[in-house]
Amino acid sequence: MIQEYQLRVLPQVAANEQALKAYIADEYGYDVRTLTAIRILKRSIDARQRTIFVNLKVRAYVNEPATDDEYRHTDYPDVSGQPQVIVVGAGPGGLFAALRLIELGLRPIVLERGKDVHERKKDLAAIGRTQQVDPESNYCFGEGGAGAYSDGKLYTRSKKRGNIEKILNVFCQHGASTAILADAHPHIGTDRLPKVIENMRNTILRCGGEVHFQTRMTQLIISEDAVVGCLAGDKEYRGPVILATGHSARDVYRYLAEAKVEIEAKGIAVGVRLEHPSQLIDQIQYHSKQGRGKYLPAAEYSFVTQVEGRGVYSFCMCPGGFVIPAATGPEQIVVNGMSPASRGTQWSNSGMVVEIRPEDLDDGQLIMDNGQLAAPDNSPLDSKKSQLKMMAFQEKLERLCWQQGNMQQTAPAQRMADFVNNRLSYDLPKSSYAPGLLSSPLHFWLPKAIGRRLQEGFKTFGQQAHGFLTNEAVLIATETRTSSPVRIVRDPLTLQHTRLQGLFPCGEGAGYAGGIVSAGVDGERCAEMCAAYLKK
Ligand SMILES: Cc1cc2nc3c(=O)[nH]c(=O)nc-3n(C[C@H](O)[C@H](O)[C@H](O)COP(=O)(O)OP(=O)(O)OC[C@H]3O[C@@H](n4cnc5c(N)ncnc54)[C@H](O)[C@@H]3O)c2cc1C
Repeated sequence: MIQEYQLRVLPQVAANEQALKAYIADEYGYDVRTLTAIRILKRSIDARQRTIFVNLKVRAYVNEPATDDEYRHTDYPDVSGQPQVIVVGAGPGGLFAALRLIELGLRPIVLERGKDVHERKKDLAAIGRTQQVDPESNYCFGEGGAGAYSDGKLYTRSKKRGNIEKILNVFCQHGASTAILADAHPHIGTDRLPKVIENMRNTILRCGGEVHFQTRMTQLIISEDAVVGCLAGDKEYRGPVILATGHSARDVYRYLAEAKVEIEAKGIAVGVRLEHPSQLIDQIQYHSKQGRGKYLPAAEYSFVTQVEGRGVYSFCMCPGGFVIPAATGPEQIVVNGMSPASRGTQWSNSGMVVEIRPEDLDDGQLIMDNGQLAAPDNSPLDSKKSQLKMMAFQEKLERLCWQQGNMQQTAPAQRMADFVNNRLSYDLPKSSYAPGLLSSPLHFWLPKAIGRRLQEGFKTFGQQAHGFLTNEAVLIATETRTSSPVRIVRDPLTLQHTRLQGLFPCGEGAGYAGGIVSAGVDGERCAEMCAAYLKK
């Protein structure tokens, strides 16, 4: 017999299979020896009250083995000799597009400017040591894309539930823990993601697809308003193109603007990374001086408010994680966050960002009440191109931050309460940010429209969570790559570029996703529309 139950249990019961079996047996009148297996189908933590509960949906197998599959398996046929599609970018958008193309009987040719996911790791480690960023191999570029060395959070606000489940199941098929199918806030962890990504690549290769590393697309091949392939250096690749190059491929945006391929400026959010001791976040969120204890995971938080008509919110929270240098070129400081599967470090961080809309900028400069420019005027970007003005602003802010941070990857930083009170920090707390921090008056040099809104936002968050606004926390500048500054316009039904047939702008870089799962969902949809286009 198989039965499903909704349970509300203490963390120590939820964490231990024997204890959970004993609980179910007791509650529903079984002899515990007849419970051959249990499987957790849904899991969420209810930390609203002082006593913390775990809500579970559990499948119990009574006097029979658990023989049903733990995840839904997808078949990938051999597509050697089938029509080919060029997928540019091996981030989640590109990889899920390639796998879906195989399901649909098409042969993906994946072009990726960076290195494979394991080789790439050496370049990431070198940033802290040498203070240099390799412009082709970094936290954003390389196999797995921006999501490879991340927290691997797999939740999304997107509503397309069916597709989300498919994405999670494909991850499981490639080696992710099936816990991601149960958890309300699933995550894989940066230590486990590379193997999963490697397995996805091996599926593509085994089925007859191709994956080319260190191969940067430089140009589209356009014939009579149709994209029929692309160039990577002097090599030509023929076929329709799924363009999934992510939010940091500024050379791609520049090329599209120069080539008069229609794109438009898109709203972004920028700010800082905020890092607390994880124990403090656990104490606040779990309402206990003891913190999370033995049975609870590192606590998460999520804050949002409005200040002067713009959203101020926490973004991409990484409990028990690290702050990392996510720049993609010289003369930039960009910070982001990642966590291992255990989420076991002594720090918890999140982006704390302010919404910026295209109308807030004038030629790449933030209009500010004091008339100051957001950043020095000698930006290498041609900010006159209005489609690129949000990108120009990001780039200026990153450069300003690099100048303030000693012209290295050392990041300017300030204690949280000092920032709110307009005080320089005389020293800084220990941080996970490997290249190092430099005390800097962020309240003074961050564009006022960002700094002032962050200050007000932090006051509100401090009132909502007692102890959150503290000098034990440090702000690290600057967080700019929260989403794409450009949208590559496409038809909402065919997902093709509005003018160019055979071009499928895909994922976060095209402006249609904001995270690993939504990029994967968009990749699958682009593959489906590309298959429909080829059938015609
Ligand atoms: C440090 C960090 C942590 C993150 N943590 C999370 C998280 O926990 N959960 C979450 O949901 N999201 C997270 N994100 C965001 C998430 O990674 C992205 O939303 C997602 O990866 C977008 O997928 P994508 O495929 O659209 O683009 P990307 O992942 O950016 O992939 C684009 C790929 O295209 C390649 N490329 C670029 N230009 C070219 C070219 N000209 N030719 C060939 N290849 C090219 C790049 O090298 C890259 O591999 C994080 C991002 C970062 C940077």
